[in-house]
Amino acid sequence: MTDRSAPSASRREFVGGLALGLGGLVASATMAGAQTPEIPNAPTGRPQPELETTPPGPADQRLGWAVIGLGDFAQGYALPALARARASRVAGLVSGNPDKLRSVGSQYGVPEAARFGYDRMGDMRDEAAIDVAYVITPNSTHAELVVKAFEAGKHVMCEKPMATSSADCQRMIDAARAADRKLMVAYRAHFEPSNVKLKEMLDAGELGDVLFANSDHHRPLEPSLPRDQWRMKKALAGGGSLVDIGIYSLNGLIWFLGELPNRVSATIVQPPGDARFAEVEDIAAAQLEFPSGKRIHISSGYQANKKRIDLFGSKATAVLDPATAYGGNRLRVTQPEGTLEVLVETPSAEQFTREIDHLSHAIREGGEVLTPGEMGLRDLRLIEAIYRSAEIGQPVDLAPDMTMKG
Ligand code: NDP
Repeated sequence: MTDRSAPSASRREFVGGLALGLGGLVASATMAGAQTPEIPNAPTGRPQPELETTPPGPADQRLGWAVIGLGDFAQGYALPALARARASRVAGLVSGNPDKLRSVGSQYGVPEAARFGYDRMGDMRDEAAIDVAYVITPNSTHAELVVKAFEAGKHVMCEKPMATSSADCQRMIDAARAADRKLMVAYRAHFEPSNVKLKEMLDAGELGDVLFANSDHHRPLEPSLPRDQWRMKKALAGGGSLVDIGIYSLNGLIWFLGELPNRVSATIVQPPGDARFAEVEDIAAAQLEFPSGKRIHISSGYQANKKRIDLFGSKATAVLDPATAYGGNRLRVTQPEGTLEVLVETPSAEQFTREIDHLSHAIREGGEVLTPGEMGLRDLRLIEAIYRSAEIGQPVDLAPDMTMKG
C-alpha cells in the first residue's frame, strides 16, 4: 500500500507557483472593468494533482461491507472509516434495534432490503451487494455471528478479541475454510503508521538486538456507559482488561519481535469490593519468555489511562506513547546521540480505513491478509495460558502453536 500522505517538497513548490498564476488571472480580469471574469476553456497548464490521499474509487468497484452491531465503535469509528475508504463501502447493516437500523441506514444510504435483524442474517446471502460482514459486537457473540456470515457466503472482518475461547476461534477458522472465504481479525496496529514505521525500523536492524520489551495498556472502565456494561460480565467479555486491551500488548510485541514465546508467568488482580471487578480482572501482568532468550513484560488494567510500548535495543530504544490510541500515536527513538521524534504524518484515524481496505484488496486481488484468523487463535491460546498461569500461580510452558504443554 503506498503512503501518499506526506506532502513532497516538489508538491509544495508547485502549489506556490500555481497561486501566483491564478493571482495574475484574477488581477487582469478585475482591471478590465465590469466584465465577468472568463473561465478559460483552454488548459491552464495545471497537471493532474498529486493528491494527499487516494480518493475513493467508483462505488461499483468498491466491495460492499455490512456492519454487524451498531454500538460505540461501529458508529464512532468503523462506519466513518468505511465511508472514507477507497476500496470498500457501506452496503448493509445488522442490528437488534430497528430504530438504529432506520437512522444509521438512512445516514449511510443503506437500502431497506440490506438492513437485517440478527435473526435474519442468513438473508444476507441474497444481497449480492454485500461482500464482507464486519462483526463489532460483544466478544462472546463473535463466533456465532461470524459462522452465520460465512454460511451466508460472505467474507468476514471480526473485531478483537476474535472470540472468548480458542475452541470458538477454531470453529470460526473451520467455517471460513468450508465457505472458502477470508477471515481477518481487526488488529488495527498493523495498519497504524507509527507502529508500521517502528516495525520497519526493527526489521532494518536500526534498534539492534532487542532482548527486552515492555507494554502497558490501561484505560478506565466506566460502568455508566453501555459499552462498558457488557465488559464487566464474564459471559459476554470472556475476561477483563487482558482480553480487551492487554491483547494489544501481546499481539504488538509478538509482531515487533517476530518470535513466539515458550513460557508465560502471570498474575491477575480483582480488587475486592469493587462491583466492576466481581466477574473480570482489573489488572493482568505477565512475563513471557522466548526461545532466543528474549523477555517481555506486559500489563493491562481498567483504572489508569496509558497505552505504551517500550523496546530496548542494543543500538537504540524506541517508545510508542501512546502506542494504540485512535489518533495521535507518537514514536520516539533514543540513541547515544540523543532522542529523535519519528514523525509519521497521516490524516487522523487513517489506520481504520487502511485496515478495512486491506481486506477488500486481499479479496479482490486474491492476496493473504496480514492479521488472519490463525493469528486471533494464537493470541487466544496465549490468553488462556496467561489466565492458567495466574490461576495455578506457576509458569506455563507453551508448545510452538501456543497450546499449553502438560
Ligand atoms: P458496544 O457495547 O458499544 O457495542 C456493541 C453492540 O453489539 C451493541 O450496540 C449491539 O448493537 C450489539 N450487541 C449484540 N449483542 C449484544 C449483547 N448481548 N449485549 C450488548 N450488545 C450487543 O461495544 P463496543 O463497540 O465498544 O465493542 C464492540 C466490539 O468491538 C468488541 O469486540 C470490542 O472489543 C471491539 N472494539 C474494538 C476496537 C478497536 O479499536 N479495534 C475499539 C473498541 C471496541 P445493536 O444494538 O445494533 O444490536
